[in-house]
Amino acid sequence: MLIGVVGGGQLGRMLGLAGLPIGMRFRFLDPGDNCPAAEAGEMIRGAYDDTAALARLIDGAACATYEFENVPAAAAMFLDSHTRLGPGPRSLSVAQDRIEEKQFFHACGVPVQPYRAVSSPQELRTAVDSVGFPAVLKTRRLGYDGKGQAVVRSAEGAGAGWDSLDRVPCIYEAFVPFVREVSLVATRSRQGEFVAHALTRNEHRDGILRVSVAPDPGADQALRNAAEGYVRAIAEALNHVGTLAVEFFVVADGDRYSLIANEMAPRVHNSGHWTIEGAITSQFENHLRAITGLPLGDAGMRGVAAMVNIIGTVPPIAEILALRGARLHLYSKEPKPGRKLGHITVTGADHEEVMPLVARLRELTAG
Ligand code: AMP
Repeated sequence: MLIGVVGGGQLGRMLGLAGLPIGMRFRFLDPGDNCPAAEAGEMIRGAYDDTAALARLIDGAACATYEFENVPAAAAMFLDSHTRLGPGPRSLSVAQDRIEEKQFFHACGVPVQPYRAVSSPQELRTAVDSVGFPAVLKTRRLGYDGKGQAVVRSAEGAGAGWDSLDRVPCIYEAFVPFVREVSLVATRSRQGEFVAHALTRNEHRDGILRVSVAPDPGADQALRNAAEGYVRAIAEALNHVGTLAVEFFVVADGDRYSLIANEMAPRVHNSGHWTIEGAITSQFENHLRAITGLPLGDAGMRGVAAMVNIIGTVPPIAEILALRGARLHLYSKEPKPGRKLGHITVTGADHEEVMPLVARLRELTAG
């Protein structure tokens, strides 16, 4: 069974690595060369909006998917009308616009912080007056890994922040005084079956995910249920087919914790990479099962897992592999500051066993 994937990055590569053992083959479309996915299937080099390239991508394919959310709307419509595209165009369009995403979360009963759309100086003033400070200005579209954002602490800062984002349409949202960040990665099948991975605790540095720990050691059953209920509501309202991830801020509410949704990704997600070793079925395999109409696999955990991203430079491989239980995943990317080059997963019976390994991996990957 051949799958056409828009994008040839590391997520495509890991989809390929997950699908090969269950009889799938892959073809990727990407405008770049030296793509991480090239070692996992056939590559087509072309623009994402090149209809001829898209047609070649799905020639003989059972279905199509994508590994990043900035797929042009016209490309998604083309794929959706010429093959089975999973997730569908609606999941993409909601995830591509931060205002639409927030409105959609709210409509699904998922809590969001106060926010306003900003596309004129007048709207910026209104946003400052109604949302206040501190706040975060983010481009509505095409932001990732903390790029396209400015923290705002004053009225003058709001103007300067918007200037720094080239005055493109933005969202002005309240800064959330979170106690930690978590995400839930889940998969919904064509038949409406829904499975969720463990709630994952995430730590970012400079807007980039650095460490994930699953299950989140601080979450009680109520918080886990809330996250799962929210993601299920989102997936069902979108009629989503495939894996999706929703990132949340955990906020303290007296001595109770609650969740505020930050953003969603209609795809496999960095905070779910630990599922390759830490779950009975990984996010990648479940995504492929969902989009091809196969039964979903058990998303239950094998003990406790943690993932540490390798960013900028690759640490000495022998030192990582000497660490008991460490599993190394390199993406075949050229080192560059701020670039995700790979990740390491560690698993164990409990957090007491896993957290010292994470501490060692933090030291090894500090550069
Ligand atoms: P995002 O691109 O929206 O995922 O933002 C990247 C990171 O910036 C998040 O994971 C948070 O650590 C931080 N961040 C973004 N928005 C906010 C906010 N409204 N309040 C507090 N921190 C934020």
